[in-house]
Amino acid sequence: MSGPARPPADGAHADVCVVGGGPAGLTLALLMLRSGARVTLVERGRSLERAYRGEILQPGGQALLDALGVLEGARRRGCYEHDGFRLEERGRTLVDGDYRQLPAPYNCLLSLAQRHLLTDLLERCLAHPRFTCLTGTKVNGLVEEGGVVRGVVCGGGADGRVVRADCVVGADGRYSTVRRLAGIPYDRIELFDQDVLWCRITAPATRTVRVFRAGGNPVLAYTSFPDRVQLGWTLPHQGYQPLARRGFAHVKGLILAAVPEYADEVDQQVRSFGDVSLLDVFAGSARRWARDGLLLIGDSAHTHGPIGAQGINLAIQDAVAAHPVLCEGLRRRDLSARFLNAVAARRRPETARATRVQAMQSRMMLSTGRVSAVVRPKAAMLVSRTPAYRSVLRRIAYGDRALRVRSDLFQSDLLQEGGPAPG
Ligand SMILES: Cc1cc2nc3c(=O)[nH]c(=O)nc-3n(C[C@H](O)[C@H](O)[C@H](O)COP(=O)(O)OP(=O)(O)OC[C@H]3O[C@@H](n4cnc5c(N)ncnc54)[C@H](O)[C@@H]3O)c2cc1C
Repeated sequence: MSGPARPPADGAHADVCVVGGGPAGLTLALLMLRSGARVTLVERGRSLERAYRGEILQPGGQALLDALGVLEGARRRGCYEHDGFRLEERGRTLVDGDYRQLPAPYNCLLSLAQRHLLTDLLERCLAHPRFTCLTGTKVNGLVEEGGVVRGVVCGGGADGRVVRADCVVGADGRYSTVRRLAGIPYDRIELFDQDVLWCRITAPATRTVRVFRAGGNPVLAYTSFPDRVQLGWTLPHQGYQPLARRGFAHVKGLILAAVPEYADEVDQQVRSFGDVSLLDVFAGSARRWARDGLLLIGDSAHTHGPIGAQGINLAIQDAVAAHPVLCEGLRRRDLSARFLNAVAARRRPETARATRVQAMQSRMMLSTGRVSAVVRPKAAMLVSRTPAYRSVLRRIAYGDRALRVRSDLFQSDLLQEGGPAPG
């Protein structure tokens, strides 16, 4: 990660230890720092570079980041505005999700490299004296006392160190170690029929996020800052290994057939298995989001497919929803599962709804087979003109519209005993 990594003094105790410096973890770290908490962030990566990660940010997430004062800085590092998304079949537009009809200024799908967003968030965290940043540090154990989580164990052997905290927040992504260590069961749901093989090429910019079919399998495509197009070639779920065994030339041939308009670029720029990255697409949900002294947010609590670009939005919204609960919990010294469950109570219905909508989008956009080839275009065009679909689109764009950054809780004495009670 960029920026100085400040190690904690031996025996330092944090109010909150956030595990994972992705969108969920860094947003929460910044919110808690602004409310005067001592925050330790533990991130296993040394850098913020993330080649194949979510980049498309929905208007709801843009608005929250703006309220936090980080959107402009992240945008200045480089981004790309898309007018909306489109489902195309052999050159014909079946669904046109026009974001320019939404109220400005958040009336676009923003392609924002995660490293730009995370760099801006991290820099703001580093400006707080109560922030401790442990990068290149992997959590591999929990400190537990009488069934209550009291901290994390990082690294191993002679390098092992303990971070004690009033609350540990697992924001460590879809394969969450914290979730596993906490013994929280996770239901992986095989909701999608496709996995995605990503590659990036240098190609002229387009103004929409596209899902298109041009003969081969459906492809996701969007322009990514500064001059790249990120292509996601869909393939049958868990069907990559047999394809890969037939060699790279075979896989490349299938991709080329699916992207005739980018055939030259793919041919020249995608040269080996090292130039592609497989995304195992599944949905998932942790059965509990809290234990005494521990909270899960973001992908570690609920995982989504890439269609409809929901993961970053939901991760940021989780952090915004967790902020007042953690402030109140720290002030009252109650970080019990019972108290922390308020976060799941607020967020679970929204994340479950996002999963249902993704399943619908996936069926509408990516289904294959002879019947669906005939039915899909007509059904997609019909459905996309109904008021119900327009309301679904707004839901996709904003998520929970009532959620606000609680800037009234940005007071450095808020968490001290006798400090003002959060409203
Ligand atoms: C290829 C791809 C494309 C996607 N496209 C989109 C998109 O366009 N739009 C969208 O909204 N979403 C998209 N998503 C989903 C989106 O990236 C995630 O939903 C989002 O990043 C979740 O944020 P998070 O902070 O919860 O987790 P993550 O971003 O996964 O961050 C978790 C962090 O925890 C760290 N970590 C993990 N284990 C440990 C450990 N043991 N100790 C310390 N640190 C640890 C990781 O290094 C990582 O930095 C995509 C995902 C993928 C993989």
